[in-house]
Amino acid sequence: MAILSDEQMRFLAIHSISMSRVFDASGMKRSVYQAAMRELSMTIAIGVSPCNAGGHTMKTRSGHCPQCGTHNLAFLLRHDEDGYVYVADSKQSGIVKIGTAGDVRTRITTLNNWGYGGVSDWRVHYHIACAKAGKVEFKAQSLLQSYRISRTYLKGGNTVDCQELFACSASMATESVQKAVDQIMPSKRLAELSKAKVAGVAKPEAVRQPNQKIAIQIKGPVYIRELAQLMGIKAHHVVQDLLKMKIHLLLDQEVSRQTAEKICKKRGFVLKT
Ligand SMILES: [Zn+2]
Repeated sequence: MAILSDEQMRFLAIHSISMSRVFDASGMKRSVYQAAMRELSMTIAIGVSPCNAGGHTMKTRSGHCPQCGTHNLAFLLRHDEDGYVYVADSKQSGIVKIGTAGDVRTRITTLNNWGYGGVSDWRVHYHIACAKAGKVEFKAQSLLQSYRISRTYLKGGNTVDCQELFACSASMATESVQKAVDQIMPSKRLAELSKAKVAGVAKPEAVRQPNQKIAIQIKGPVYIRELAQLMGIKAHHVVQDLLKMKIHLLLDQEVSRQTAEKICKKRGFVLKT
């Protein structure tokens, strides 16, 4: 086992990388540890040969020195995130953005405050909870490759370059996100969701337009926890809804689809298979 120096420990902490994402690659060939890390969704390899620039002995799974180039690391971390993939659009400029966030509402506020892409009327068109949100985002964007536009805008006297905007309709972008979800997490989607960390997820109510129903998809049996997670609420709230309907179930139990549909309707969602 390679020993991490204090400097390396500090670096991992600053970037919120848990040791469960650190892979000991001591004595392994690069191709071998990279393949293993991809499979295990590991972020950082230790015990590797030092980088030329600074003599650092960590590598990202894409083979870069994270300490010399933190942008490489940021990209990887986004890939491994659980959270929401969202489609935002701007009426004024007719452009669309696909992104990932743990809290969509806050992200949109940030985009508007920042004037991201020279736009300050971003609004959420669609969002979906995903495990591997970063991968879904990446795939959805690649499906829209031919609509990609780059915009530069001025911010605080600096020219900011935006590479991830699209000149297409929001519904087209939404379709590409749904396609990406189907490709990346086909039947395992729900199993993965139940394992996914849900800390800080947005409450869908907060980003929904009035009278707009949000579609959520559950194939097969409907479990209370998963239903709650997809609606962005705590599972005990669903249990309370059930109690009002005189149905006594526990957090871990399954609910009939018919009942789930009623709860969804009440909370402004549509349940799809
Ligand atoms: Zn380095």
